[in-house]
Amino acid sequence: MTTYTLPESGLTSLSAAELAEKIHSREVSSREVTQAHLDRIAETDGEINAFLHVGAEAALQAADDVDKRLDAGEAPASPLTGVPLALKDVIVTTDAPTTGASKILEGWMSPYDATVTRKLREAGIPILGKTNLDELAMGSSTENSAFGPTRNPYDLERTPGGSGGGSAAALAAGQAPLAIGTDTGGSIRQPAALTNTVGVKPTYGTVSRYGLIAAASSLEQAGPTARTVLDAALLHEVIAGHDLFDATTVDRPIAGVVAAAREGASGDLRGLKVGVVKQFDRDGWQPGVMSSYHASLDQLTGQGAEVIEVDCPHFDDALAAYYLIMPCEVSSNLARLDGMRYGLRVGDDGTHSADEVMALTRAAGFGDEVKRRIILGTYALSVGYFDAYYLQAQRVRTLIAQDFARAFEKVDVLVTPTTPSTAFKLGEKVADPVEMYNFDLCTLPLNLAGLCGMSVPAGFAEDSGMPVGLQIMAPAFADDRLYRVGAAFEAGRS
Ligand code: GLN
Repeated sequence: MTTYTLPESGLTSLSAAELAEKIHSREVSSREVTQAHLDRIAETDGEINAFLHVGAEAALQAADDVDKRLDAGEAPASPLTGVPLALKDVIVTTDAPTTGASKILEGWMSPYDATVTRKLREAGIPILGKTNLDELAMGSSTENSAFGPTRNPYDLERTPGGSGGGSAAALAAGQAPLAIGTDTGGSIRQPAALTNTVGVKPTYGTVSRYGLIAAASSLEQAGPTARTVLDAALLHEVIAGHDLFDATTVDRPIAGVVAAAREGASGDLRGLKVGVVKQFDRDGWQPGVMSSYHASLDQLTGQGAEVIEVDCPHFDDALAAYYLIMPCEVSSNLARLDGMRYGLRVGDDGTHSADEVMALTRAAGFGDEVKRRIILGTYALSVGYFDAYYLQAQRVRTLIAQDFARAFEKVDVLVTPTTPSTAFKLGEKVADPVEMYNFDLCTLPLNLAGLCGMSVPAGFAEDSGMPVGLQIMAPAFADDRLYRVGAAFEAGRS
């Protein structure tokens, strides 16, 4: 079995916090660190396929700029200044193509930077390149990418998860110490679980979606991914905050996640109430995942937490509700990809009407899963079906939010396994969309309720030998709780 996991020594083996310290003390330059990661990408990405675009020149230029400023005695612009990062290719950048892993955007260059991109640049974080994903963030394995799947660095025959498999694989392989993902139904947390990395979906409204190619606007949020909880916290504080360009962002101070991660590192969880979601503690899920999960619960108890079972009956309906609401929003959002304004245009030869050009472009530019969702969503929103499907799904969404609210009256955080099994083999689920959807069972309820969640590494399953993640969920705007508990859990494992 071939693996391409983290190197044991050298710059690409270090955490972002460690790299930042070395760069800020001038022990190494940002250029050296950036170059080391570019070399690692060159060495490994032929097989992993985590990157759709590597922007070596732009990354080194940004690194040189940081080095010049630090050499001149300027204070670092952020705690992560000089540390390079990989960006999911669904977030727009002016100096690199953004494809969303779709043929329909091939060759398109954004005329503006996303707010997240701008914040990264202002923080002095060189962007190594754009990472692979399922087409327009729809999928759970990166197999829906128009540019080939990403492979899991722990076993190249397996998926790194999806949709953000590229970012997760890049972290696991030591190609990048930090990465940005987006999470509509689990696309940050699920790949994190499958690759032994940390992934956080921040509270809805705390990270700007301006310049994030919209699939399902009411569900998705960009978030930090890294190999340690502290690194994720440092990145979280760089990207979060109110944005005048995104009316869904909230004008309130963001939770102090870095302080929480540092506090959690003591490992002390006395006084914390952890709710175990009854619905997601099932016989029939992969035994190796479940035994690791129960060991994680014992560990939390050992660290002083009180573990209580909680009932969230409507979580069982999250899958059905999500796969109605999500496609409905997709069918509307993706109408803009019509061959007129962005990227691909097919049939523009003077013999076709504008309507025909749109139809030909969409037929050629979108893959099967994207088409499936546009059709499903359009159907569920049509007259006669709207009440039965869309409206009903929205009612279920409210019930799920109420389940969370009731649970958080009793406990501080909720936990579940992040996924029902470890990374599956490439090709194993592609023929059956519903089986693919089922893989996201545990991560979907959170997005429907707009709350925050983290997947933190929980070891390796004894049966498959592949990584397992523990999902931690907290109320809206209590992102700091995730980091406190996540860091304590991480400390308790080592
Ligand atoms: N796998 C889920 C879907 O296909 C979630 C994707 C995501 O979070 N972007 O919709």
